[in-house]
Amino acid sequence: MKFALLSLSAVAALSVLLTPAVALPTLAPIPASYNQHRVVRIQVRNEAELKALSDNENALDFDYFTHEKNVGGHVDVRISPSAFPKFQALNLEYTTLIDNLQTVLDEEKKADAQYQQIWATTSKTKNGLSSLKEGDVSASFDDTWYQGYHTYADHQAWLSEKISQNPGKASGFSAGKTFQNRDQAGIKIGSGPNHIVFHGTQHAREWIGTMVVEYLIEQLLKGTDSRVAGYLSKYTFHIIPIMNPDGFVITQTKDRMHRKNAQVTNGCIGTDTNRNWGYKWNTGGSSTNPCAQDYMGPSAFSSPEAKNIAAYLKSLPKVVSYIDFHSYSQIWMTPWGYSGTRPPTYNYMNGLAIKAAAALKAVHGTSFTTGDIYNTIYPASGSSVDYALSIGVGAPFAVELRDKGTYGFSLPASQILPSGRETWAALAAILDNLQV
Ligand SMILES: [Zn+2]
Repeated sequence: MKFALLSLSAVAALSVLLTPAVALPTLAPIPASYNQHRVVRIQVRNEAELKALSDNENALDFDYFTHEKNVGGHVDVRISPSAFPKFQALNLEYTTLIDNLQTVLDEEKKADAQYQQIWATTSKTKNGLSSLKEGDVSASFDDTWYQGYHTYADHQAWLSEKISQNPGKASGFSAGKTFQNRDQAGIKIGSGPNHIVFHGTQHAREWIGTMVVEYLIEQLLKGTDSRVAGYLSKYTFHIIPIMNPDGFVITQTKDRMHRKNAQVTNGCIGTDTNRNWGYKWNTGGSSTNPCAQDYMGPSAFSSPEAKNIAAYLKSLPKVVSYIDFHSYSQIWMTPWGYSGTRPPTYNYMNGLAIKAAAALKAVHGTSFTTGDIYNTIYPASGSSVDYALSIGVGAPFAVELRDKGTYGFSLPASQILPSGRETWAALAAILDNLQV
């Protein structure tokens, strides 16, 4: 990366000389410490072990990083140092993915801080964010946005700029207000009769989702070839980079591992909005414990975030696809999550997912698996894609982006652009094959 050649003092000097185009972003300190917290991968060998996991998850305060709780599968779990001896006593088979989570988070924070300095200076020298275009990561300034993660304020500025710089092609919208009164801000691109909705970061800690969604926005706006022009006349895209801004802000100010929204129940922060949607809510694979990471909320659509997006989907005349981008695990999933009985359109949806995974792999060789949530991964009720299918959305997908557990939610920034490029190829494969 060319910026490595800039000495820190040179960067500092530039900072003094130049007022940043956007307010100098600072990531606030994160007081919640994960010192000595481990992330382990547990192999579930039999029913007894599956039961042991379920019976002990509250007592051991498990934070499930992945949710593949079935025999023959594996599940990634964060365990605190105080709970670790009790976990060991269960005699489950496990491997350690991350020995000390705080070390990974410290590395991430250090990289963020270095990047923020570069961003503050280069964004000014290039007159704002306007000149982003696809190019080689090592050779081009224009990919700078995708060389690091960004503050919430910067994401807002980025989206506003995309909207204002593309009059006639794009417009802004808000799907509604969050619990803490933030907008679920989005951009509408294209003019086709077939509507497509997607968003990132329903789960707050899954930062790569927002960056990838922004990359997709970029491709739709910049595309000058006939292929993209065809997409924009066939489809109208409604894209929300940050579906859960309250939670996203929490990950940047208080707790990097926060997953849920900001509603407080019994002293615990957050409803898992992706267990709160109003179709087959509370029918398995979600928790009634307000402190659990998959807390379903007190009633269906008790979270404004899920409720707003649902209403937005319903307000559109013909939604042919909906994509909810998550991380991590590398899976392109289809409904149902609540039931193992496959919907009538399963073969159509999974056929698209298979095409998406093949196109994705052709870019950087990254392997994604496909399948319905319940049978491939885990039972999960009250999810966004189940709701979307239930109201007639043609092809809803829940996508788990990179990686497969090496870094988990703290995916190194060097993987943002490759993730964006391969996901764009996957999206294009879907756009080429959707039945409208
Ligand atoms: Zn997620």
